[in-house]
Amino acid sequence: MARYTGAVCRQCRREGEKLFLKGERCYSDKCGVERRPYVPGEHGQGRQKLSEFGVQLREKQKVKRIYGVLEKQFRNYFAKADNQPGITGEEFLKLLERRLDNTVYRLGFAASRNEARQLVRHGHFLVNGHRVDIPSYSVEEGDVIEVKESSKDMTRMKEIIEFSAQQNTPEWLEVNLEKRTGKVLSEPLREDIDLPIREQLIVEFYSR
Ligand code: SF4
Repeated sequence: MARYTGAVCRQCRREGEKLFLKGERCYSDKCGVERRPYVPGEHGQGRQKLSEFGVQLREKQKVKRIYGVLEKQFRNYFAKADNQPGITGEEFLKLLERRLDNTVYRLGFAASRNEARQLVRHGHFLVNGHRVDIPSYSVEEGDVIEVKESSKDMTRMKEIIEFSAQQNTPEWLEVNLEKRTGKVLSEPLREDIDLPIREQLIVEFYSR
């Protein structure tokens, strides 16, 4: 599947804020947004005035980048949320939040969503005892996610666990970092998604 292969930090700089796409580096002074806090490109340091459409577009692009989802799949999530009861914007974010790669990241078994996606694809995780290597797999209440036995002590996993021990676990998840297991306690709520997202702008974008 086609995927963005350019410089990762450029995506944060384009959105003008930290999207935390690179794990440990995002918390260091090597962060691209902190080193070069302006939009990349020739006119990046000039003044930018966005139209209403531009503001909606940027919000959509930002969320796509945060969750690492391509346009077609992103639009499908929106269509699904739009057909569900509840507030469309919130339902949309909850669908994204329940992706397995995001859940693995939230549990602290990866330092970023990009890394989580790669680890899931490489088959390092079990869901309810079965290997699942589909990053978009949607977790349900009661699901148990664990690192595969042979991957529990790999060097990178040890580094990730050390890093994650300093991070908070959201209320909808429970984790045992030592045993490398986690559980989905409930569906995520909007307040569990601690990202600076204005989902209403995305609803407006797709409702044009
Ligand atoms: Fe974004 Fe992280 Fe790069 Fe900073 S280090 S620009 S937060 S990906």
